[in-house]
Amino acid sequence: MYKFINSSSKSKLIPLLSNSILYKSACSSNLVSNSRNEISKKIHKPKNGNGNRVLWGRSGFRSYSSESDRETMNYDVVIVGAGPAGLSAAIKLKQLCQQKDVDLSVCVVEKGAEVGAHILSGNVFEPRALDELVPHWKEEEAPIDVPVTSDNFWLLTENRAFSLPSPFDNKGNYVISLGQLVRWLGQKAEQLGVEIYPGFAASEILCNEHNEVTGIATNDMGVAKDGSRKENYQHGVALKGRVTLLAEGCRGSLSEKLIKKYNLREKGQGQHQTYALGIKEVWEIDADKHQPGYVLHTLGWPLDQKTYGGSFLYHMKDRQVAVGLVVALDYQNPFLNPYEEYQRFKRHPAIRPLLEGGNVLQYGARSLNEGGFQSIPYPVFPGGAIMGCSAGFLNVPKIKGTHTAMKSGMLAAESAFSMLQEGLKMENYWDNLRSSWIWEELYTARNYRPAFEYGLYPGLALSAVEHYILKGRSPVTLNHGKPDHEATREAQLFSPIEYPKPDGVVSFDVPTSLYRSNTNHDHDQPSHLHLKDPTVPENVNLPKYAGPEARYCPARVYEYIPDETGDLKLQINAQNCLHCKACSIKDPKQNFEWTVPEGGGGPGYTIM
Ligand SMILES: Cc1cc2nc3c(=O)[nH]c(=O)nc-3n(C[C@H](O)[C@H](O)[C@H](O)COP(=O)(O)OP(=O)(O)OC[C@H]3O[C@@H](n4cnc5c(N)ncnc54)[C@H](O)[C@@H]3O)c2cc1C
Ligand code: SF4
Repeated sequence: MYKFINSSSKSKLIPLLSNSILYKSACSSNLVSNSRNEISKKIHKPKNGNGNRVLWGRSGFRSYSSESDRETMNYDVVIVGAGPAGLSAAIKLKQLCQQKDVDLSVCVVEKGAEVGAHILSGNVFEPRALDELVPHWKEEEAPIDVPVTSDNFWLLTENRAFSLPSPFDNKGNYVISLGQLVRWLGQKAEQLGVEIYPGFAASEILCNEHNEVTGIATNDMGVAKDGSRKENYQHGVALKGRVTLLAEGCRGSLSEKLIKKYNLREKGQGQHQTYALGIKEVWEIDADKHQPGYVLHTLGWPLDQKTYGGSFLYHMKDRQVAVGLVVALDYQNPFLNPYEEYQRFKRHPAIRPLLEGGNVLQYGARSLNEGGFQSIPYPVFPGGAIMGCSAGFLNVPKIKGTHTAMKSGMLAAESAFSMLQEGLKMENYWDNLRSSWIWEELYTARNYRPAFEYGLYPGLALSAVEHYILKGRSPVTLNHGKPDHEATREAQLFSPIEYPKPDGVVSFDVPTSLYRSNTNHDHDQPSHLHLKDPTVPENVNLPKYAGPEARYCPARVYEYIPDETGDLKLQINAQNCLHCKACSIKDPKQNFEWTVPEGGGGPGYTIM
C-alpha cells in the first residue's frame, strides 16, 4: 500500500505497508530455497574423530569444520551465481569428471529464492554455446521452442517509425525466457551431481594468509534492522573451494571487489566498464496480434539524440511478448527517468496498438555491460576466476551476452579442471578466452558502442561503416567516453522533464509495476544499500544533480521526503530493490554500495 503526498515541488511516494507486496512463488522447478535447511542439516551431522563434521554427499567426500564461530563446507569448486555462466561451468566440470572418470565436488550458491528468480534478459538466444555444452538439447526438451522468424529495425520519431536495414542476424536464433532456460540448466547440473543452494547470498570473499581466495561466506540470516538476532537467526556458512568461480552477472558485488583488489581491469584490456539499464515487461497480447518469432529493435525516440539506447520487442510463445527499453547509463541529463522513458515508449503510435487489450504478466529491471572488448578485465585472480557478465562478455551490437557467458563458464571450468587434475594453471583460462570465438566476436564488435559517443546519427553512420564495410577490421579501436557516474551533468544545465501520467492501459506507475516483479525482502533486516558518506545525498546529489537516484532507480527505492523541518532527506526503501545495480553504477559520487541482502529476497521472476 502506498500513499502519495504533495510537497511544494512534486508528489512523493511513501511506502506504508510495503510488505503487502507479497512474494508469489510460481516454482515449477525443485530448485527452490529449502536448501538453507539442507545446508543446516548437513552441518549438523555428527562430528568425526577430529572434531570436524563429515558427510558423504552425492558427489564425493566433504569435510565440515567449525571455523571460528562459522560452519565451513569444503568443495573442490565453489561457484557464485546460478545464471548461464555459473551453471554452464558447473555442468562442464561434471561432464569432464565423467569423461575422465574422476570426481570433483561442485557447489553453486544463488541469492534468488529459486534458480532463475533473479534472471532478467531479452532474450533472443544464440544457441552456439549450448550446442557445445549439451548438443542434444532439443531431445532433452530445453525450453527453446520459438525460432526467430523475422528481424525488424526501426528508427522512431515521436509519431513515426522508419524501417532501416536490420544489422542483426538472428537466423538460427530463438526467442526464449532466459529464466526458464536457466531453470532447465539447473536441473541438468543437479542430475550430474552439482549441489545447488538457492536462497544463499555470497556476501564475503575468504582469503588465506597468502592473499589467495579460498572461497566465500554467505551472510547471516535472521538479523533485525537494529542488528539484534531474531528467533530465526542462522549464522552464515563458509563455503571453501580449491577453486572459486564468480558468475554474479553484470556488476557483481564480490566480483567488483576482486577486480579492484587484484587490479584486474588494469591487467586486462584496461578501459573502465560502461553500462546500461534494461527495463522489461512480459505482456500477454491478443492472439490475432501475436507472431511467434517476430523480433523488433528500435532506436531514437523517446530517448534524446545524446542518449544511447533502444527498445526490444520479442514475440515469445503462448501469446507472450517481451517488451523492454535499454538506456545507456552514461546519459547526461539528471532529470532523465529510464522507467518513465519506457512508459512513454509504449505509447508510441506504432507500439501501442500491439499492447492494447493485453495485460502485463511481469515487470523487472537489470543492468547490462556495454564496455565490450575494451573493458574486459584480466579474469583470473589467485584462487579462481570471473566469468560471464561479471567480467563483461556481452556483445553490444548483438545485445547478446548469454552465449558468451555460457562459453566463458565452460572455458573457466576446463581450466579449473585441468588445474585440479593435472596441475596446470588457472591462467590458461585467459589464453583460452583469447583463442575462443568470444574474443573474435567482441573484437569485431568493439567500435560499435563508442561510435555513439558522437550522438545518434553520427553513431549510426559510423557503426554502419564498421558493420557493413570494415566488418570489424578497422585499424583503430575507439575509446569509451567518461565512466557513467561522471557523465551526469549538473541539473542547472537542464529543465525538468514532464512525463505523461500513466494511463493504466499501456503505461503504469511504479508500485503497480513493482507488484508485478514479485519482489520481496524481509523488512526487518539491515539495509543492503549502504551510503559510504551519509551526507552526500543531501549535500551533493540533491542540490547539484536534483537527486537523480529518485529517477534512475526503477523501483523507487530512493525518495527525497521532507523531514519535520521541511528539508528534503533521502529515504531508502531497500525492501523494493530489484537488484538491478544501477545505483552502484550511476551515483555521481559512487557513494552507494550495493551489498547482498538476506538470501532468498529480491525479485521473484518466473518468465523473464
Ligand atoms: C534487458 C536485457 C536484455 C538482454 N537481452 C539479451 C538477449 O536478447 N540475448 C542475450 O543473449 N543476452 C541478452 N542479455 C544479456 C544476458 O542476459 C546476460 O549476458 C546473461 O544473463 C549473463 O549471464 P551471467 O550468468 O553472467 O549472469 P546473470 O544472468 O546475471 O546471472 C547471475 C546470477 O548470479 C546470482 N548472483 C549474483 N550475485 C550473487 C551473490 N553474491 N551470491 C549469490 N548469487 C549471486 C544472480 O542472482 C543471478 O542468478 C540481456 C540483458 C538485459 C539486462
Ligand atoms: S536500489 Fe539500486 S539496485 Fe535496487 S532497484 Fe534501485 S537502482 Fe536497482
